Amino acid sequence: MTQAPFPHTDFEILDTKVYNHPLVYLDNAATTQKPRTVVDAISHYYTHLNSNIHRGAHYLAAQATELYEQTRHKVAQFIGAAKPCEIIFTRGTTESINLVAASFSQMALREGDEIIVTAMEHHSNLVPWQLAAERHKAVLRFVPYSDEGVLDIEAYRQLFTPRTRLVAATHVSNTLGTVNPVADMARIAHSHGVPMLVDGAQAVAHTPIDVQALDCDFYCFSAHKMYGPMGIGVLYGKEERLNAMPPYHGGGEMIADVSLQRSTYNVLPFKFEAGTPSVADVLGFGAAIDYLQGVGMNVIADYEKELLRYATERLLSVENLRIIGNAPHKASVISFLIGNAHPYDTGMLLDKLGIAVRTGHHCTQPIMDRYGIPGTVRASFAAYTTTADIDALASAIIRIAPMLQ
Ligand code: PLP
Repeated sequence: MTQAPFPHTDFEILDTKVYNHPLVYLDNAATTQKPRTVVDAISHYYTHLNSNIHRGAHYLAAQATELYEQTRHKVAQFIGAAKPCEIIFTRGTTESINLVAASFSQMALREGDEIIVTAMEHHSNLVPWQLAAERHKAVLRFVPYSDEGVLDIEAYRQLFTPRTRLVAATHVSNTLGTVNPVADMARIAHSHGVPMLVDGAQAVAHTPIDVQALDCDFYCFSAHKMYGPMGIGVLYGKEERLNAMPPYHGGGEMIADVSLQRSTYNVLPFKFEAGTPSVADVLGFGAAIDYLQGVGMNVIADYEKELLRYATERLLSVENLRIIGNAPHKASVISFLIGNAHPYDTGMLLDKLGIAVRTGHHCTQPIMDRYGIPGTVRASFAAYTTTADIDALASAIIRIAPMLQ
């Protein structure tokens, strides 16, 4: 295998010792570690640039505004958006989806209307639609998937009716690792005149994204899962879609003119960015994108594909281990169970050996119900994960297995 694209030396935290063992960090689907350049960009902002953006008539405000807007351009270019005004900064994927679920639904959803969602969504791309459906007396319809974790596209086609108003689907399942055919799904949705929202939280750090090629109407993601800071994320939306939607939050920056009785609203993207944004985090996000692009998304995707193949082979060689989610097209996430051991016990024992994995339902309780399991152990990889990390995981599982019987 080739070397990991990101060197451990760029991530001081990876030097941590856990119970006298070197940390093996395999919880990247929850959040990735941040390279020094990202931490430095945040620190630089507070040390040298701190000021509120857009409104200030002074040097620091102008500098901060310039860098903030430059980052918007950078994000637009990174995901292939047609225009920077199609990039709305939010607190993350969850807020991006809630924005669309509230604003689009207010505009477009009426009693008896339908929204199509897949049955493998993270709660963040399920509960906002449940809330919207409840509010507007609409109905949710679900795309099923096979035991391997592959969406049933024929069933998806059959779900469309004249009442379908929106499709929401995850690009990559955070639990099963499945990469869904979202471009095909968007094409099918559009053939019915229906827009499509894609939850890209688990995709953007692992594969090149081109929202125009996918032709989705909305694409949502979080910086912290792509080597950037927590508390910042993006809603990409096609300009005409976002223009047609009412504001989500009211407050400063999102207005054009305000009187005591009513207001008119600012143009995109500001219409959807009420209040003071997290400027330092946006700049840190920009540094994360520079860092990813320094290596290139194709290099990262190729490396992680190899790593997934290696890890799958290593783990399947462990007796009594079964993988939940065996789609032919997967991202670098492996959910597994050892015999009848509770995932929580497995995770605790692995932690004592310095191995950080996630256990539980991973905010996808309906997936656990689908397989009749309480949860899984999830190892998820990043561009700094090495084959040595995978070997450490496999050896640790073999070591703890007898304690789990
Ligand atoms: N969607 C998916 C597929 C995720 O994996 C996650 C987080 O794990 C989210 C949405 C929510 O992301 P955030 O908590 O950053 O808003």
